[in-house]
Amino acid sequence: MKYTILSTAILLLQTIDAFQLPFNLGQLPKVFQSDLSLNQPHYSTLKHDDIPINLSQYEDDIVVRLSYEKHLKEYLLLQKDIKFNKWAQNNNARTMDIQIKKSDFYNNLLTKFPNLKYEIIIEDLSQTAYETFPKSNDFTISNDLDFHAQSELFFEEYRNLNTIESWLNLLQITYPQVINIEEIGDTYEHKKLKVVHFQVPNDIDHKSKKTIVITGGVHAREWISVSTTLYLIYQLIRLYNTWPGSKILTQLNFLFIPVFNPDGYEYTWTTDRLWRKNRQETPIPKCFGIDIDHSYDYHWTKSTDWACGEEYSGDIPFEAFESKIWDNYLNETNQEHKIYGYLDLHSYSQEILYPYAYSCNQQPRDEENLIELAWGIAKSIRLKSGSNYQVLPACIDKDSDLLPDLGSGSSLDYMYHNKAYWAYQLKLRDTGSHGFLLPSKYIEPVGDEIVSAIKYFCEFILSDDR
Ligand SMILES: [Zn+2]
Repeated sequence: MKYTILSTAILLLQTIDAFQLPFNLGQLPKVFQSDLSLNQPHYSTLKHDDIPINLSQYEDDIVVRLSYEKHLKEYLLLQKDIKFNKWAQNNNARTMDIQIKKSDFYNNLLTKFPNLKYEIIIEDLSQTAYETFPKSNDFTISNDLDFHAQSELFFEEYRNLNTIESWLNLLQITYPQVINIEEIGDTYEHKKLKVVHFQVPNDIDHKSKKTIVITGGVHAREWISVSTTLYLIYQLIRLYNTWPGSKILTQLNFLFIPVFNPDGYEYTWTTDRLWRKNRQETPIPKCFGIDIDHSYDYHWTKSTDWACGEEYSGDIPFEAFESKIWDNYLNETNQEHKIYGYLDLHSYSQEILYPYAYSCNQQPRDEENLIELAWGIAKSIRLKSGSNYQVLPACIDKDSDLLPDLGSGSSLDYMYHNKAYWAYQLKLRDTGSHGFLLPSKYIEPVGDEIVSAIKYFCEFILSDDR
């Protein structure tokens, strides 16, 4: 596993005396309940062949929620001497979740900040990772069996790339009039990047339909974003079966990319469940992967993170295979698709992020409407499931006010500025009890709440006159 080590340091911070920082004593209030399911065996009791990947790689790690005041965050983001891996942060609650070696946490960080408020979110990281894999390896999709019956089972667990491709293949066979799957390019590991084109045939000219783009799996470990994108496709198909005349279907055209980072996704199933980037070579041998979401050309800057780090941007814009393929595809199909809406699904935090990511100083066009639409989406989710999603500018979430390169070159900014009128990044569940390792029992609840969000989003776009 690779840790993020940010190499920029600010002189001022080096002079901070840890003991002068205004931290309060004690741990954070206990809000998480450990729900390691009782019916799942502990991975350490299983035979080697029954364990999906080498789970002992996470044995020494924990995930901790830190409560920061003033300088801790800057210290953590900019220091060099403690290795950790940032998972998420909440700027309202002023907390940050990090994955860190137990020894680094207890002997190093806590020694430096003895009054630090914290809570251990994931104590047994190996087991929590293990529990996200399907309970059985037996599930396969057969072209001879009913698509819908198999789909019910398909969404009970997260699925590997092969199974997803078989499901998409059967979807296309079952609904050839609606579904067209395009292979738009080859990744570094020669996997196909696939766009699922969903369009109901009718007498409305294809070119005059508004196009909605929904992507998942940009970051490999965020499995819920992949399952949710697939679930949206499935629910649109079900809508087509029951109400083919629905305006959402007849007047809109959808492009889905459920697995935007197939190489990385595959790697999380075979090697490292917590991998984030793609898998292409970098200038440093043995350090693989570019963060696709830092690779777009709109306000791209080279990341200060090194090639082994999780935020590595590459040396030039569009160096990541996937962002380049996507840009080529959009340019080639420019005349065919008028993109009105773009939703990029990620996890975790339950947030709806609006542009810009690269800077808090540039105001997005239609800012008021952009924010209002985001709150409308949040409300539609809350009404469906009770889940609370926060709305905030992406620059705040990405800390680009602190270190500008952290928010640069994102697909959100690129799509918003060049292609889509209404663009958001949605960070799905949860708010931290499982983080990136959300159990599969949440696939359908999350899918259902995002279906509500998409309906609201589509209705807004249909009623928008531009
Ligand atoms: Zn992500």
